[in-house]
Amino acid sequence: MDICEIFTSIQGEGPNIGKPTLFIRLSGCNLNCPYCDTKYCFTESKRIEKKKIIDIIKNSDKMICFTGGEPLLQKNEVYEIVTFFSKKEFEIQTNGTIAINNKLKNVIWAIDIKTPSSKGFFNKDNLKLLSENDWVNFVIADDSDLDWVYLFLSENKLNTDKIYLTPAYRAMNYSDLAEKIVDCKIKNVRLGIQIHKLIWGEERKR
Ligand code: SF4
Repeated sequence: MDICEIFTSIQGEGPNIGKPTLFIRLSGCNLNCPYCDTKYCFTESKRIEKKKIIDIIKNSDKMICFTGGEPLLQKNEVYEIVTFFSKKEFEIQTNGTIAINNKLKNVIWAIDIKTPSSKGFFNKDNLKLLSENDWVNFVIADDSDLDWVYLFLSENKLNTDKIYLTPAYRAMNYSDLAEKIVDCKIKNVRLGIQIHKLIWGEERKR
């Protein structure tokens, strides 16, 4: 598998925020969001056999999070690993461009629904594959992203109420977005905090 980095830290976002977690960051992405804070994983890559990754997971008592980049670019290997550890809890963070596999019962899906400022796209089939355990994230860079989210949520019913709005890296700060969320007409959304950045600063990779 093409791996950017494997490290233990705390989960910095979503419903599992604060949980000690083993992160497996896969290299490469099929998008190029202007605010991306993990562009280093486009080029930093080492080949690690799936068996070695299974051994690393076996030796960890932490929750496991596949992230990227876009981990579903290597979905066959990721799914094989998740299936191998049917009793272990995984989170898979995806940019939402590739259809998820909701038959994997030990996976919490974290799906980024790409707002216009990302210049990316989103596979709408994923909406009907979500469960109430999964969560979605919208990265907000400006007011037009917020307007877009409002329209999106009014036109699409989600199967989860775990809906986060997270400020785009270096484009918006937490207090500005918090005030906008308080004032906006969107119901059932939460401010998405990336606590690893608050704890260790924006420049630290993890
Ligand atoms: S989808 Fe995620 S990893 Fe890929 S470019 Fe966008 S922010 Fe970066």
